Amino acid sequence: MILTALRRGIRKRCPHCGEGALFSGWAHHLERCAVCGLVYERNPGDTWAFTIIGDRLPIAAIIVMIYFGYGRTHHVLGLITFAVLAVVLVWTAPNRWGVGIALHYLSRVYWPDPADPVPTQLKNSPSPDP
Ligand SMILES: [Zn+2]
Repeated sequence: MILTALRRGIRKRCPHCGEGALFSGWAHHLERCAVCGLVYERNPGDTWAFTIIGDRLPIAAIIVMIYFGYGRTHHVLGLITFAVLAVVLVWTAPNRWGVGIALHYLSRVYWPDPADPVPTQLKNSPSPDP
């Protein structure tokens, strides 16, 4: 269940049903799932902490790694590594945001909030409205 949701997040799919898109275009964050109706981010900033984990920490770790080790002894190699990793990090940003949304979704599933209903309806179950 956790892995399924995370895998869906990496693939930029709704963590609940795996069908709806998380983003329109490259990185425009959608409000809710078009397939199951899951609201991805109930309050603006809800996924912020998870985004920090997925987004900022790897960047910080790389900067520290290069600054304290790599870059000092191998300047050119350090710069090349830094540039390549920067490109990879930017390129995979929507995937990591997807994981952040998936983690946020899991936290809502495991610690349910009555004011924040997670849709129970899955794509194969009968829909109340046609
Ligand atoms: Zn969905």
